[in-house]
Amino acid sequence: MSAADEHADAQDYEALLQFLYLAPVGLVQLAADGAIQMLNPLSAQLLMPLSRDGELTNLFEALAPVAPDLRSQCGSFAAEQGQVCDALRLYLHADAKGSGPQVMSLTLLKLNADRLMAVLTDVTEQDRRERQLRKTDAWLNAIITNITDYALVSLDRQGRVESWNESIQRVTGYEAAAIKGQHYARFYPDGATTEAQQLDRLREADENGWTLDEGLRLRADGSEFWGSAMISPLPLRGDDDGAAGAPGADDEPAYCMIIRDISDRRDVSENLRKATYSDHLTGLSNRRAFFEAAQLELARRKKAVRPVALIVIDADHFKAINDSHGHPAGDAVLVHLAHTMRGVCRQVDVLARIGGEEFAIILPSVALDDALAIAERLRAGVAAAPAVYAQQPIAYTISLGVAVMDDALAGFDDLMKRADEALYAAKRGGRNRVAAWAAA
Ligand code: GH3
Ligand code: MG
Ligand code: MG
Repeated sequence: MSAADEHADAQDYEALLQFLYLAPVGLVQLAADGAIQMLNPLSAQLLMPLSRDGELTNLFEALAPVAPDLRSQCGSFAAEQGQVCDALRLYLHADAKGSGPQVMSLTLLKLNADRLMAVLTDVTEQDRRERQLRKTDAWLNAIITNITDYALVSLDRQGRVESWNESIQRVTGYEAAAIKGQHYARFYPDGATTEAQQLDRLREADENGWTLDEGLRLRADGSEFWGSAMISPLPLRGDDDGAAGAPGADDEPAYCMIIRDISDRRDVSENLRKATYSDHLTGLSNRRAFFEAAQLELARRKKAVRPVALIVIDADHFKAINDSHGHPAGDAVLVHLAHTMRGVCRQVDVLARIGGEEFAIILPSVALDDALAIAERLRAGVAAAPAVYAQQPIAYTISLGVAVMDDALAGFDDLMKRADEALYAAKRGGRNRVAAWAAA
């Protein structure tokens, strides 16, 4: 062997030692009888709790309390080389002192007739998590199979249905297979939620641990029912640490959603809600509901910047209508206006009567141009179709002011002020028109 070859060999050997020293697993080289010939620092650390008086001379002896069969297993391993055992879980005694492992995994390789290699890893944490998951699975299974009036589905990170329990058909009418991969918005009537709101829900669940909403839900046959929907995030699976915010695989279940038919409860809570939050004449939201909805929408906008538009509406020369047709006719006009508003808005818009003959609409995720178009449709609709009272058509018009939220505004009051300014501009401009807020 040349000096150069010897040098290369020495270098290889050096590299191997370096590897053994730094390897993130415990490596032990032993003789056929278990006598330890060489061990790296990690394996010494892992085995220390098992050693008597800090002595580590024979692996079989050291592991005897937790793996008594190891020696005989090796003895009866006939092949010249191969895996004597693979990822054998060793449960260390609870009285093992200090912070060493409680569960170790052992793989034993026979290299030749008189040499073995043991690979040791600390799997305490992994073992704990696996048992936790099994417990959670058993618990979830019990829920899934035993409850009948809750439809339970798991959603992936995008909110698409991933799996479901048997009640899904009873509650929603959907054949289980028909909803696989469908977005959960499928359970909401058309227009009852926007894409932005659906994302909000998931984000809210991430942040608060859950999110709950009550409202109309859609069955497979198109009929609606009053239901609650709760979404909560599932703990990330996978073998990483599940670091907060770590993206799970796209098709992994990320949320659990529970849909419940609460039509029975609705009557009671709806009556109460109506009394508190809706205007008795028109059935629209009242002032209180309007301002609460506004605060909620602006809080959501802070988390994900997106447009929010506001339209304020005032009936033109309403005093004159009252004077010439009477107060009840004036009321009929207000009901007619509310009806026309519903006709041009989406379900997610907040329609409110905020004063005598003053109305407002909050339009989530709508920018100025679209808000102006909606306002114009409403104006034209009112101008084209008069209200009817006692078989008498009562023609009337409205003026509208439009403004959108922007970051320069401190809050909803400022937005309201802008929309009001626009409304006055429309009035000054001759009524029966739409005006957008413009910097003075
Ligand atoms: P403008 O075009 O400037 O808005 O004229 P207007 O007559 O509508 O102006 P103003 O705001 O002064 O008048 C509003 C009128 O609306 C006064 C009030 O009698 C009437 N009103 C307020 N609430 C009701 C209601 O609930 N029913 C009826 N019928 N009239 C109402
Ligand atoms: Mg007014
Ligand atoms: Mg008016």
